[in-house]
Amino acid sequence: MTDCIFCKIVEGKIPSRKVYEDDDMLAFHDINPMAPVHFMIIPKKHVDSLANVGPEHAAVLGKMMAKAATLAREQGSTDGFRTIVNTGRIGRQDVYHLHIHVIGGPNPLPRMIAKE
Ligand code: AMP
Ligand code: ZN
Repeated sequence: MTDCIFCKIVEGKIPSRKVYEDDDMLAFHDINPMAPVHFMIIPKKHVDSLANVGPEHAAVLGKMMAKAATLAREQGSTDGFRTIVNTGRIGRQDVYHLHIHVIGGPNPLPRMIAKE
C-alpha cells in the first residue's frame, strides 16, 4: 500500500531497527518505546487492522504470535511480556497496518489498562 508507513518500512523506504524478518513477517523496534523492550511484529502483506482479518490471514497471524516469545526473550524480556493489538477507533489504533506490540523488560509492567 503506497501511503502506509509500515509498508514503507517493509520495502526499506523508511529505516527501522530490525529485530527479525522472514518471508511473511517483520519485527522492528518501536520508535517511541513504552518499556525497555518494545518492538512490533507485522505481516509483510498489508492488512489494515485486526477488525478486518479473515480466515486467509490466520496462517500469518499464527506465525506472528508463535514468534513473539522467542523474540521477546532474545530482546531481554526473559520472564514474560505483554502483547497488544490496538484495533480501530475504540482500540486507539494509530497506524493502520496490523501490528502486534511486544512489550516487556526486566521489571513487571503497569497493570493492563487504567480504569476510568
Ligand atoms: P498503534 O497505536 O498501536 O497504532 O501504535 C503505532 C505505533 O507505531 C506507536 O507505538 C509508534 O511509536 C510506532 N511507530 C510509528 N512510526 C514508527 C516508525 N517509523 N518506526 C517504528 N515505530 C513507529
Ligand atoms: Zn501497510
